[in-house]
Parts: sequence; C-alpha cells; structure tokens
Amino acid sequence: MSDSQSILTRSLKSVWHPCTQMKQHENFPLIPIQKGDGVWLIDTDGNRYLDAVSSWWVNLFGHNNPRIKDAIKQQLDTLEHVMLAGFTHAPVVELSEKLGKLTGLGHAFYASDGASATEIALKMSFHCWRNSGKPQKTRFISLQNSYHGETLGALGVTDVAIFKDTYAPLLMQSAQMPSPDFRLAEAGESAEDFALRCADALEKYVSVHHKQLAAFIIEPLVQCAAGMGMYHPIYLKRAREICTQYNVHLIADEIAVGFGRTGSMFASYNDCDSACTFASCTKRQDCRPDFICLSKGITGGYLPLSCVLTRDEIYQAFYDDSTVRGFLHSHSYTGNPLACSAALATLAMFESDNVIESNKAKTAYIQTKMQALTHFPIQHLRHQGMISAFDVMTQNPHFAKDCYAAALSNGLLIRPIGNTIYFMPPYTITESEIDLMIAATVKVLQKLI
Ligand SMILES: *Cc1c(COP(=O)(O)O)cnc(C)c1O
Repeated sequence: MSDSQSILTRSLKSVWHPCTQMKQHENFPLIPIQKGDGVWLIDTDGNRYLDAVSSWWVNLFGHNNPRIKDAIKQQLDTLEHVMLAGFTHAPVVELSEKLGKLTGLGHAFYASDGASATEIALKMSFHCWRNSGKPQKTRFISLQNSYHGETLGALGVTDVAIFKDTYAPLLMQSAQMPSPDFRLAEAGESAEDFALRCADALEKYVSVHHKQLAAFIIEPLVQCAAGMGMYHPIYLKRAREICTQYNVHLIADEIAVGFGRTGSMFASYNDCDSACTFASCTKRQDCRPDFICLSKGITGGYLPLSCVLTRDEIYQAFYDDSTVRGFLHSHSYTGNPLACSAALATLAMFESDNVIESNKAKTAYIQTKMQALTHFPIQHLRHQGMISAFDVMTQNPHFAKDCYAAALSNGLLIRPIGNTIYFMPPYTITESEIDLMIAATVKVLQKLI
C-alpha cells in the first residue's frame, strides 16, 4: 500500500470526520493533504487544490504564511499556555485592547471555537438581565435560516433543518424572524424594501414579546451557512433601533463575516466613519451591537480561538462582591497565548498591508471575471466583499456533491451548499489564481449542466 492509501484507510478506521456520513466514503475517497502553500493545498501524491473556501472560512492570508508562523514560533519559545483564571499574559491583553478599539466593545471573553462564543453571548445576555432585576428575560430570537454553531445552546438559535431537526427534543425553544435574504423577496421588490418589510415583522414580534426577550442574535450582512444569503444593511440599522427601543440585546455573530470578509473590518460595526454600516447614524456609539462574537479568521486560520466582546454597561452588571453574580464560565484553553499571538500577527497584517483597501481591487476583479458564469443557467449572482455566490438552476438532487467532486478533479476546492456555489478565498489570492478558479468552475458547469 502506498503512503497515501494507508493514511486513507487508517483515517476511515480511526477518525470520525465532521459533517460527514462516514459510509459515503466507501466510494468517495478522502483527500490526504500533506502541505499548504498560499491558496494551495497539496496532497500526498502532489496534486494541488485551490482552496476557494479558505478551509471552512478560516484562512485569511494563505496557508504556510510566514508572518503568522513566525509569530507563533516566537511565542512558543516563551509561553505556550497558562490558565486565564488568576493569571494573565501580554498577548491576551494586547489582543483584547486591539479588538476593543476595532469594535468599540471594551471587554473581551475568550473560548476556542465559534459555537462556544455563541453559548457565551447567550449566557451573558441572560445573566446580565438576571443581575439587572429582569430574570423573566430568558428567550432568544434569531433569523430564519440562521447558523450560530452546533453545540446544544447554539443549535437552539440555529435554523438549518439538516443540523437541527434530529436534536430538536434536546434544544431550547427560540423564535425565528423572517430572513431579509434578498433571494426571498417578492418579484420586483428591491433588496432594501424587502429588508424594511422584514424589519417591520421583527418590530411587530419584539413589541409583543420584549418582556421575555433577552437577545436577538444575527449574522450581519451574510447568512453564510444558509448558502451565502445576503441582505441590505438597512436591516441591521433597523434591528439595532428596534432592540434599543425595546431593551433587547443585539448579538452580532461575526464568526464568519468578521475580519474583512464583507469588505469592511466588521460587518456590524466599524470604527471608521466612511465604512460605517449605519450610514445615517450620527451618534456612532449607539450603533454598536451589545455583543460581537468572533472566531474563524481571528487567527488567520492557524489556531482555534474565539472571542465575545461586550460593552461596559453589560460588564458592570456582573461586577459585584457576590461571586455568583460574576460570569463563572470557563474553557481550559481560554486565551491561549499561541492562538493570541497568531491573532495579533493577523491584525498586524491588516494594518501594515492595508488589507481592507487592497481587497477592493480583488473584489472588483472577481466580480468582473464571474460575468463569464452568466452564460450558464444561474441566478442571484451576488457579492459582498470577499464573498461571491450564485445559485445554479438544476434538478440534480446530488448537485452539491457532484459539483464538489468535479471541481476537485479540476484542482479546485469548492463546497457548494445545495445549489449555491460560492467563493470565499484567502485574501492573498492573485489575479492569475482567480482566473484559474473561474476557469475550473466553467469546466465544472460545462460538465454538470
Ligand atoms: C462557523 C460558524 C459558527 C460556529 O463556529 P465553530 O467554530 O464551527 O463552532 C457560528 N456562527 C457562524 C456565523 C459561523 O459561520
């Protein structure tokens, strides 16, 4: 048996792979990746795959990035880890200060994955109301087709049937508000009008139920797991206004869209007048969410880390002589110094390379090149910063799987969601790599439709 075959057989025997019906691997081989290089993943036989999904949306600056690697190596020589209860260290302090400055939310609580960040924001919101004499505020609302992670609490506010239905008996109840995803608009209705109509429905619900509502959790601008459902930013502005008016926390789940994905540093709040999502807001402090959840791109795709940022008023609701009024939540690897050093190197790159600005040219190039795809039967070609997507009109019930396989044999890693093909490449992708990405997609579509 060759090395790669032996890895495959051993993997199937011992590794339970995520989001996978393992039996399907009987006739659908795993791919053993040996190394990464920029946008490329290289398998044990030397085949190269262009990682157009940034390895599940985590990688920002390419695989094997020298600057992030060096930062982790340097940190490794001083301190690999110390528990964050009773102790602190420079990387976590520096990172918290930087994230506080970028988000306008000055208190950072850490965990290791996105779902845990969702759990933390939900628990903090509930506990904050309880500490503030409003223990009846125990309910959460989210958007239809939302995705906030798959641990039980996070799954309770997620609305993706294939992940949720099986576990429904275990989950807390939450209500879903109409999604402003503009694919769901009526014919002839503008994205903005549709977003406003959905916001009216939100207001109607909140005006009736606000006494029981702790928080509204939302993916700002793009509902990624729903198939890159995009919506008009006016919805975020209205959601903020409605939550403020009715005293309900607004949780921005920026786990997928944070760190420049949507074209600005954060989708829900930017400490920069020109890029503010809330164009008409004059009192800028008022447009911050109450919580921002971050993960995925936070370490540039190097190490697991997540963070929940919140504002001072919420932090103060826990600050007390009583122990149980504190937030007694913890994870073993909270604030891991190696992960924090990767995050600091990632943030440093945004500054030194002016990434948000230079991504604009890349976004424009991708959008121009994608016009070549309009010759196929597709609809809803859409873009938001470094996310592009379109829906293929096909009756093939296995389209996602067939497309994934056909793309791989053309050296391209994409992972369609239903009939939606999307690109979410590392920001370091070059124009010639974009050309390859589109050319491979054209070949795949020629084969499949
Ligand atoms: C990926 C994701 C999560 C969950 O993060 P994990 O690290 O996979 O637990 C939560 N919310 C959104 C919007 C995500 O895209």
